[in-house]
Amino acid sequence: MKTFIVILALLITAPLSAQDSSQKKNGSSVWLKGNIHTHTFWSDGNQFPEMIAKWYKQEGYDFLALTDHNVLSKGEKWMPLSTLKARGGDDILEKYIAAFGGEWVITRGEEPKLEVRLRTLEEFRQGLEKDGDFLMIQSEEISDRSQGVPVHMNATNIQEVIAPLGGATVREAMANNLRAVAEQARRTGKPIILHLNHPNFGYAVTAEDLAAVVQERFVEIYNGHPGVNVLGDDDHASVEKIWDIANTIRLAQLSAFPLFGIGTDDSHHYHGRGTSRPGRSWIMVRGDKLEPDAITETISRGDFYSSSGVTLKDVVFDNKKRVLSLQIEAEEGVTYSTRFIGTTKTADLSSKEKKAANGKTVTRIYSEDVGAVLSTVSGTNPRYEFKGDELFVRAVVTSSKAHVDPTLPNQTEQAWTQPVGWSVSSRRSR
Ligand SMILES: [Zn+2]
Ligand SMILES: [Zn+2]
Repeated sequence: MKTFIVILALLITAPLSAQDSSQKKNGSSVWLKGNIHTHTFWSDGNQFPEMIAKWYKQEGYDFLALTDHNVLSKGEKWMPLSTLKARGGDDILEKYIAAFGGEWVITRGEEPKLEVRLRTLEEFRQGLEKDGDFLMIQSEEISDRSQGVPVHMNATNIQEVIAPLGGATVREAMANNLRAVAEQARRTGKPIILHLNHPNFGYAVTAEDLAAVVQERFVEIYNGHPGVNVLGDDDHASVEKIWDIANTIRLAQLSAFPLFGIGTDDSHHYHGRGTSRPGRSWIMVRGDKLEPDAITETISRGDFYSSSGVTLKDVVFDNKKRVLSLQIEAEEGVTYSTRFIGTTKTADLSSKEKKAANGKTVTRIYSEDVGAVLSTVSGTNPRYEFKGDELFVRAVVTSSKAHVDPTLPNQTEQAWTQPVGWSVSSRRSR
Protein backbone atom coordinates (compact mmCIF):
# COMPACT_ATOMS: atom_id res chain seq x y z
CA MET A 1 0.00 0.00 0.00
CA LYS A 2 1.21 3.40 -0.86
CA THR A 3 1.88 5.67 2.06
CA PHE A 4 0.95 9.25 1.76
CA ILE A 5 3.02 11.68 3.68
CA VAL A 6 1.09 14.80 4.38
CA ILE A 7 3.13 17.75 5.35
CA LEU A 8 1.17 20.33 7.21
CA ALA A 9 2.73 23.71 7.38
CA LEU A 10 1.32 25.73 10.16
CA LEU A 11 1.90 29.40 10.40
CA ILE A 12 1.46 30.51 13.92
CA THR A 13 1.77 34.18 14.62
CA ALA A 14 2.35 36.06 17.82
CA PRO A 15 -0.80 36.68 19.82
CA LEU A 16 -2.11 40.06 18.87
CA SER A 17 -2.51 42.24 21.91
CA ALA A 18 -6.18 42.70 21.17
CA GLN A 19 -7.84 44.04 24.25
CA ASP A 20 -11.52 43.97 24.90
CA SER A 21 -13.01 47.20 26.16
CA SER A 22 -13.84 45.84 29.62
CA GLN A 23 -10.12 45.78 30.23
CA LYS A 24 -9.70 49.47 29.54
CA LYS A 25 -9.94 52.38 31.91
CA ASN A 26 -9.69 55.96 30.58
CA GLY A 27 -8.43 54.53 27.31
CA SER A 28 -5.61 52.55 28.93
CA SER A 29 -5.39 48.87 29.61
CA VAL A 30 -6.00 47.54 33.10
CA TRP A 31 -3.12 45.62 34.62
CA LEU A 32 -2.64 43.44 37.67
CA LYS A 33 0.68 43.73 39.50
CA GLY A 34 2.26 40.64 41.00
CA ASN A 35 5.44 38.98 42.15
CA ILE A 36 5.80 35.27 41.43
CA HIS A 37 9.09 34.50 43.19
CA THR A 38 9.11 34.84 46.99
CA HIS A 39 10.64 32.87 49.89
CA THR A 40 9.36 32.55 53.48
CA PHE A 41 10.04 30.59 56.66
CA TRP A 42 8.59 27.60 54.81
CA SER A 43 12.06 27.31 53.25
CA ASP A 44 14.95 29.78 53.42
CA GLY A 45 13.18 33.13 53.82
CA ASN A 46 13.41 35.07 57.07
CA GLN A 47 9.80 36.05 57.71
CA PHE A 48 6.37 34.49 58.26
CA PRO A 49 4.47 34.01 54.98
CA GLU A 50 1.46 36.11 55.95
CA MET A 51 3.71 38.96 57.12
CA ILE A 52 5.31 38.96 53.68
CA ALA A 53 1.98 38.77 51.86
CA LYS A 54 0.66 41.64 53.97
CA TRP A 55 3.67 43.75 52.94
CA TYR A 56 3.05 43.10 49.23
CA LYS A 57 -0.64 43.88 49.63
CA GLN A 58 0.11 47.15 51.42
CA GLU A 59 2.57 48.09 48.68
CA GLY A 60 -0.23 47.90 46.09
CA TYR A 61 0.43 44.51 44.55
CA ASP A 62 -2.64 42.62 43.32
CA PHE A 63 -1.26 39.11 43.58
CA LEU A 64 1.60 37.16 45.08
CA ALA A 65 3.02 33.66 44.68
CA LEU A 66 5.06 32.22 47.54
CA THR A 67 7.66 29.94 45.99
CA ASP A 68 9.53 28.04 48.66
CA HIS A 69 12.08 25.44 47.67
CA ASN A 70 10.41 22.08 46.95
CA VAL A 71 7.56 22.72 49.39
CA LEU A 72 4.09 24.26 49.48
CA SER A 73 2.82 26.28 52.49
CA LYS A 74 0.91 23.22 53.52
CA GLY A 75 0.84 20.64 56.32
CA GLU A 76 2.13 20.97 59.87
CA LYS A 77 5.47 22.68 60.28
CA TRP A 78 6.80 23.76 63.67
CA MET A 79 9.91 25.88 63.96
CA PRO A 80 11.96 26.63 67.08
CA LEU A 81 11.70 30.28 68.06
CA SER A 82 15.48 30.29 68.36
CA THR A 83 15.75 29.50 64.63
CA LEU A 84 13.19 32.15 63.71
CA LYS A 85 15.07 34.73 65.81
CA ALA A 86 18.43 33.77 64.32
CA ARG A 87 17.00 34.38 60.86
CA GLY A 88 14.56 37.23 61.42
CA GLY A 89 15.81 39.06 64.54
CA ASP A 90 15.09 38.90 68.28
CA ASP A 91 11.76 40.73 67.96
CA ILE A 92 10.38 38.44 65.22
CA LEU A 93 7.60 37.03 67.44
CA GLU A 94 6.61 40.40 68.94
CA LYS A 95 6.25 41.89 65.46
CA TYR A 96 4.21 38.89 64.27
CA ILE A 97 1.85 39.17 67.26
CA ALA A 98 1.58 42.94 66.82
CA ALA A 99 0.52 42.46 63.18
CA PHE A 100 -1.86 39.51 63.48
CA GLY A 101 -2.81 39.35 67.20
CA GLY A 102 -1.95 36.83 69.90
CA GLU A 103 -4.87 34.56 68.98
CA TRP A 104 -3.50 34.00 65.49
CA VAL A 105 -0.03 32.93 66.63
CA ILE A 106 0.22 29.24 67.58
CA THR A 107 3.04 28.16 69.87
CA ARG A 108 3.90 25.10 71.91
CA GLY A 109 6.37 24.49 74.75
CA GLU A 110 8.19 27.07 76.81
CA GLU A 111 11.29 29.17 76.25
CA PRO A 112 14.00 28.32 75.48
CA LYS A 113 12.36 25.47 73.58
CA LEU A 114 9.30 27.37 72.39
CA GLU A 115 8.14 26.46 68.89
CA VAL A 116 5.86 28.31 66.48
CA ARG A 117 3.63 26.59 63.94
CA LEU A 118 3.72 28.11 60.48
CA ARG A 119 0.28 29.01 59.21
CA THR A 120 -0.68 27.34 55.95
CA LEU A 121 -1.70 29.12 52.75
CA GLU A 122 -5.24 27.84 53.20
CA GLU A 123 -5.34 29.40 56.67
CA PHE A 124 -3.90 32.82 55.92
CA ARG A 125 -5.13 33.48 52.41
CA GLN A 126 -8.70 34.13 53.59
CA GLY A 127 -7.75 37.17 55.67
CA LEU A 128 -5.73 38.64 52.81
CA GLU A 129 -8.22 37.90 50.06
CA LYS A 130 -11.51 38.64 51.80
CA ASP A 131 -11.98 42.13 50.32
CA GLY A 132 -11.42 40.83 46.79
CA ASP A 133 -8.45 43.14 46.24
CA PHE A 134 -5.59 40.68 46.66
CA LEU A 135 -4.86 37.15 45.52
CA MET A 136 -2.45 34.44 46.58
CA ILE A 137 -1.41 31.96 43.87
CA GLN A 138 -0.10 28.64 45.14
CA SER A 139 3.41 28.03 43.81
CA GLU A 140 6.68 26.21 44.34
CA GLU A 141 10.30 26.71 43.36
CA ILE A 142 11.23 23.29 42.01
CA SER A 143 14.87 23.45 43.01
CA ASP A 144 16.78 20.90 41.00
CA ARG A 145 20.45 20.27 40.24
CA SER A 146 22.24 18.69 37.33
CA GLN A 147 25.87 18.56 36.25
CA GLY A 148 26.78 20.30 39.52
CA VAL A 149 24.72 23.43 38.90
CA PRO A 150 21.32 24.65 40.15
CA VAL A 151 18.32 24.23 37.86
CA HIS A 152 15.51 26.15 39.54
CA MET A 153 12.07 26.42 38.02
CA ASN A 154 9.04 28.19 39.46
CA ALA A 155 5.68 26.48 39.11
CA THR A 156 2.96 29.12 39.30
CA ASN A 157 -0.54 27.88 40.20
CA ILE A 158 0.68 24.40 41.07
CA GLN A 159 -1.85 22.18 42.82
CA GLU A 160 0.35 19.50 44.36
CA VAL A 161 4.02 19.61 45.27
CA ILE A 162 6.43 18.26 42.64
CA ALA A 163 9.79 16.92 43.81
CA PRO A 164 12.66 17.84 41.48
CA LEU A 165 13.13 15.10 38.92
CA GLY A 166 16.79 15.61 38.06
CA GLY A 167 18.42 14.53 34.81
CA ALA A 168 21.80 13.65 33.36
CA THR A 169 22.08 17.14 31.86
CA VAL A 170 20.66 20.58 32.61
CA ARG A 171 18.44 20.23 29.54
CA GLU A 172 17.18 16.85 30.65
CA ALA A 173 16.39 18.14 34.15
CA MET A 174 14.46 21.06 32.65
CA ALA A 175 12.56 18.75 30.32
CA ASN A 176 11.75 16.28 33.10
CA ASN A 177 10.32 18.96 35.37
CA LEU A 178 8.37 20.48 32.48
CA ARG A 179 6.89 17.07 31.72
CA ALA A 180 5.82 16.56 35.35
CA VAL A 181 4.15 19.97 35.43
CA ALA A 182 2.38 19.36 32.11
CA GLU A 183 1.14 16.03 33.41
CA GLN A 184 -0.24 17.65 36.57
CA ALA A 185 -1.90 20.42 34.54
CA ARG A 186 -3.59 17.81 32.35
CA ARG A 187 -4.70 15.73 35.31
CA THR A 188 -6.03 18.61 37.41
CA GLY A 189 -7.35 20.72 34.54
CA LYS A 190 -5.51 23.73 36.00
CA PRO A 191 -3.13 25.90 34.00
CA ILE A 192 0.38 25.92 35.49
CA ILE A 193 3.37 27.92 34.32
CA LEU A 194 6.87 26.60 34.86
CA HIS A 195 9.45 29.32 34.34
CA LEU A 196 13.21 28.90 34.34
CA ASN A 197 14.70 30.98 37.14
CA HIS A 198 17.90 33.04 37.18
CA PRO A 199 19.81 31.29 34.32
CA ASN A 200 23.07 32.97 35.37
CA PHE A 201 22.89 31.79 39.00
CA GLY A 202 26.00 29.62 39.12
CA TYR A 203 26.10 30.24 35.33
CA ALA A 204 23.96 27.14 35.20
CA VAL A 205 21.79 27.51 32.12
CA THR A 206 23.14 28.75 28.80
CA ALA A 207 21.31 30.44 25.94
CA GLU A 208 21.72 27.23 23.92
CA ASP A 209 20.11 25.19 26.74
CA LEU A 210 17.19 27.62 26.87
CA ALA A 211 16.83 27.50 23.11
CA ALA A 212 16.93 23.71 22.97
CA VAL A 213 14.32 22.94 25.61
CA VAL A 214 11.53 24.29 23.47
CA GLN A 215 8.75 23.25 25.85
CA GLU A 216 9.98 25.98 28.19
CA ARG A 217 8.28 29.26 27.35
CA PHE A 218 9.39 31.51 30.24
CA VAL A 219 12.63 32.78 31.67
CA GLU A 220 13.53 35.29 34.36
CA ILE A 221 15.12 38.29 32.67
CA TYR A 222 15.52 40.28 35.86
CA ASN A 223 15.66 38.81 39.35
CA GLY A 224 16.15 41.04 42.40
CA HIS A 225 18.49 38.65 44.18
CA PRO A 226 21.93 40.29 43.98
CA GLY A 227 23.71 36.95 43.59
CA VAL A 228 22.28 35.84 40.27
CA ASN A 229 24.65 37.58 37.80
CA VAL A 230 22.00 39.45 35.84
CA LEU A 231 24.66 41.29 33.82
CA GLY A 232 26.90 38.24 33.29
CA ASP A 233 30.67 38.70 33.28
CA ASP A 234 33.63 38.60 30.88
CA ASP A 235 32.90 34.96 30.06
CA HIS A 236 29.10 34.96 30.16
CA ALA A 237 26.35 36.89 28.40
CA SER A 238 23.87 38.98 30.39
CA VAL A 239 20.48 37.43 31.07
CA GLU A 240 18.84 39.77 28.55
CA LYS A 241 21.35 38.73 25.89
CA ILE A 242 20.76 35.07 26.74
CA TRP A 243 17.04 35.70 26.22
CA ASP A 244 17.68 37.20 22.77
CA ILE A 245 20.13 34.50 21.70
CA ALA A 246 17.72 31.75 22.75
CA ASN A 247 14.80 33.38 20.94
CA THR A 248 16.88 33.92 17.81
CA ILE A 249 17.95 30.25 17.71
CA ARG A 250 14.37 29.14 18.30
CA LEU A 251 12.84 31.31 15.58
CA ALA A 252 15.63 31.05 13.00
CA GLN A 253 16.61 27.42 13.37
CA LEU A 254 14.15 25.42 15.44
CA SER A 255 10.72 26.71 14.32
CA ALA A 256 9.93 26.98 18.01
CA PHE A 257 8.05 29.55 20.02
CA PRO A 258 10.10 32.26 21.72
CA LEU A 259 10.49 32.65 25.48
CA PHE A 260 8.64 35.34 27.40
CA GLY A 261 10.60 37.34 29.97
CA ILE A 262 9.65 37.55 33.64
CA GLY A 263 10.84 39.99 36.32
CA THR A 264 10.75 38.82 39.94
CA ASP A 265 12.02 39.63 43.42
CA ASP A 266 13.28 36.20 44.53
CA SER A 267 13.04 37.84 47.95
CA HIS A 268 14.37 36.10 51.06
CA HIS A 269 15.00 38.96 53.50
CA TYR A 270 12.28 41.20 54.91
CA HIS A 271 13.61 43.26 57.79
CA GLY A 272 15.45 45.97 55.95
CA ARG A 273 18.59 43.90 56.23
CA GLY A 274 20.02 41.07 54.18
CA THR A 275 20.52 41.40 50.47
CA SER A 276 17.59 39.68 48.79
CA ARG A 277 14.79 42.14 49.46
CA PRO A 278 11.20 42.55 48.17
CA GLY A 279 9.90 45.25 45.83
CA ARG A 280 12.57 45.20 43.15
CA SER A 281 10.80 43.66 40.15
CA TRP A 282 7.39 42.36 39.19
CA ILE A 283 5.07 41.51 36.33
CA MET A 284 2.05 43.45 35.09
CA VAL A 285 -0.59 41.10 33.71
CA ARG A 286 -3.31 42.49 31.46
CA GLY A 287 -6.82 42.15 32.81
CA ASP A 288 -8.86 42.76 35.90
CA LYS A 289 -9.88 39.24 36.92
CA LEU A 290 -8.20 38.41 40.22
CA GLU A 291 -8.37 34.68 39.83
CA PRO A 292 -5.43 32.22 39.72
CA ASP A 293 -6.39 30.37 36.53
CA ALA A 294 -7.19 33.58 34.63
CA ILE A 295 -3.90 35.22 35.59
CA THR A 296 -1.92 32.06 34.80
CA GLU A 297 -3.58 31.77 31.40
CA THR A 298 -2.89 35.41 30.55
CA ILE A 299 0.78 34.93 31.44
CA SER A 300 0.79 31.80 29.25
CA ARG A 301 -0.30 33.90 26.29
CA GLY A 302 2.50 36.38 26.94
CA ASP A 303 0.06 39.19 27.63
CA PHE A 304 2.14 40.82 30.36
CA TYR A 305 5.25 42.92 30.79
CA SER A 306 7.96 43.00 33.41
CA SER A 307 9.03 46.02 35.39
CA SER A 308 11.55 47.26 37.90
CA GLY A 309 9.75 50.59 38.29
CA VAL A 310 8.49 51.89 34.92
CA THR A 311 4.72 51.62 34.44
CA LEU A 312 3.18 51.22 31.00
CA LYS A 313 -0.36 52.36 30.34
CA ASP A 314 -0.42 50.18 27.29
CA VAL A 315 1.65 48.04 24.98
CA VAL A 316 0.07 47.20 21.65
CA PHE A 317 1.36 45.23 18.71
CA ASP A 318 -0.69 45.92 15.61
CA ASN A 319 -0.07 42.81 13.56
CA LYS A 320 -1.66 44.23 10.41
CA LYS A 321 0.27 47.48 10.37
CA ARG A 322 3.30 45.79 11.91
CA VAL A 323 3.77 48.43 14.57
CA LEU A 324 4.74 47.96 18.21
CA SER A 325 3.75 50.94 20.35
CA LEU A 326 4.04 51.71 24.03
CA GLN A 327 2.37 54.28 26.23
CA ILE A 328 4.53 55.04 29.22
CA GLU A 329 2.98 56.42 32.39
CA ALA A 330 5.12 59.51 32.75
CA GLU A 331 6.40 60.70 36.09
CA GLU A 332 7.19 64.36 36.68
CA GLY A 333 10.80 65.20 35.96
CA VAL A 334 11.66 61.73 34.67
CA THR A 335 12.81 61.01 31.11
CA TYR A 336 12.41 57.75 29.21
CA SER A 337 14.47 56.03 26.56
CA THR A 338 13.13 52.94 24.78
CA ARG A 339 15.34 50.53 22.92
CA PHE A 340 13.67 48.27 20.39
CA ILE A 341 15.73 45.12 20.35
CA GLY A 342 15.53 42.26 17.89
CA THR A 343 17.26 40.04 15.38
CA THR A 344 16.75 40.25 11.63
CA LYS A 345 16.48 37.35 9.21
CA THR A 346 19.73 38.36 7.54
CA ALA A 347 21.67 38.55 10.80
CA ASP A 348 24.93 36.69 11.20
CA LEU A 349 23.94 33.83 13.49
CA SER A 350 27.30 32.14 13.64
CA SER A 351 28.92 31.72 17.03
CA LYS A 352 32.20 30.61 18.44
CA GLU A 353 33.22 29.02 21.66
CA LYS A 354 34.53 31.24 24.38
CA LYS A 355 36.79 29.63 26.88
CA ALA A 356 36.82 30.88 30.43
CA ALA A 357 40.06 31.88 32.12
CA ASN A 358 40.42 28.33 33.49
CA GLY A 359 40.37 26.93 29.95
CA LYS A 360 36.97 25.30 30.26
CA THR A 361 34.48 26.08 27.50
CA VAL A 362 31.68 27.94 29.15
CA THR A 363 29.74 29.81 26.54
CA ARG A 364 29.34 30.76 22.91
CA ILE A 365 29.78 34.26 21.55
CA TYR A 366 27.46 35.60 18.84
CA SER A 367 27.72 38.61 16.59
CA GLU A 368 26.14 41.87 17.67
CA ASP A 369 23.39 41.19 15.13
CA VAL A 370 21.78 38.84 17.64
CA GLY A 371 19.61 40.90 19.94
CA ALA A 372 20.67 44.11 18.22
CA VAL A 373 19.33 47.53 19.12
CA LEU A 374 17.18 48.27 16.06
CA SER A 375 16.19 51.75 17.22
CA THR A 376 16.21 53.99 20.28
CA VAL A 377 13.31 56.35 20.91
CA SER A 378 12.92 58.92 23.66
CA GLY A 379 9.63 60.16 25.07
CA THR A 380 6.53 58.53 26.48
CA ASN A 381 4.97 57.13 23.27
CA PRO A 382 7.71 55.14 21.59
CA ARG A 383 6.81 53.07 18.54
CA TYR A 384 8.59 50.74 16.16
CA GLU A 385 7.56 50.12 12.58
CA PHE A 386 8.70 46.77 11.30
CA LYS A 387 10.88 46.83 8.19
CA GLY A 388 9.84 43.29 7.28
CA ASP A 389 12.98 41.30 7.96
CA GLU A 390 12.73 41.01 11.75
CA LEU A 391 12.57 37.61 13.44
CA PHE A 392 11.15 39.36 16.51
CA VAL A 393 11.23 42.72 18.24
CA ARG A 394 10.88 43.58 21.91
CA ALA A 395 11.09 46.86 23.81
CA VAL A 396 12.98 47.80 26.92
CA VAL A 397 12.24 51.14 28.53
CA THR A 398 14.89 52.75 30.71
CA SER A 399 13.99 55.77 32.83
CA SER A 400 16.24 58.43 34.33
CA LYS A 401 14.90 57.64 37.81
CA ALA A 402 17.13 55.70 40.18
CA HIS A 403 15.88 52.23 41.10
CA VAL A 404 14.32 52.11 44.57
CA ASP A 405 16.64 49.33 45.78
CA PRO A 406 19.29 48.66 43.13
CA THR A 407 21.23 45.43 42.64
CA LEU A 408 23.17 46.66 39.59
CA PRO A 409 25.61 49.58 39.17
CA ASN A 410 23.83 52.89 38.44
CA GLN A 411 20.57 51.00 38.02
CA THR A 412 17.53 53.01 36.95
CA GLU A 413 13.92 51.90 36.61
CA GLN A 414 13.01 49.78 33.58
CA ALA A 415 10.21 47.88 31.85
CA TRP A 416 10.53 44.96 29.46
CA THR A 417 7.86 43.95 26.94
CA GLN A 418 7.60 40.56 25.26
CA PRO A 419 8.93 39.67 21.81
CA VAL A 420 6.35 40.30 19.08
CA GLY A 421 6.12 40.12 15.32
CA TRP A 422 7.44 36.58 15.15
CA SER A 423 5.98 33.66 13.33
CA VAL A 424 6.63 29.99 13.69
CA SER A 425 6.16 27.67 10.80
CA SER A 426 6.15 24.12 11.96
CA ARG A 427 6.04 21.02 9.81
CA ARG A 428 4.21 17.98 10.95
CA SER A 429 4.05 14.74 9.15
CA ARG A 430 1.60 11.98 9.60
ZN1 LIG B 1 16.41 29.75 42.87
ZN1 LIG C 1 14.17 31.55 44.70
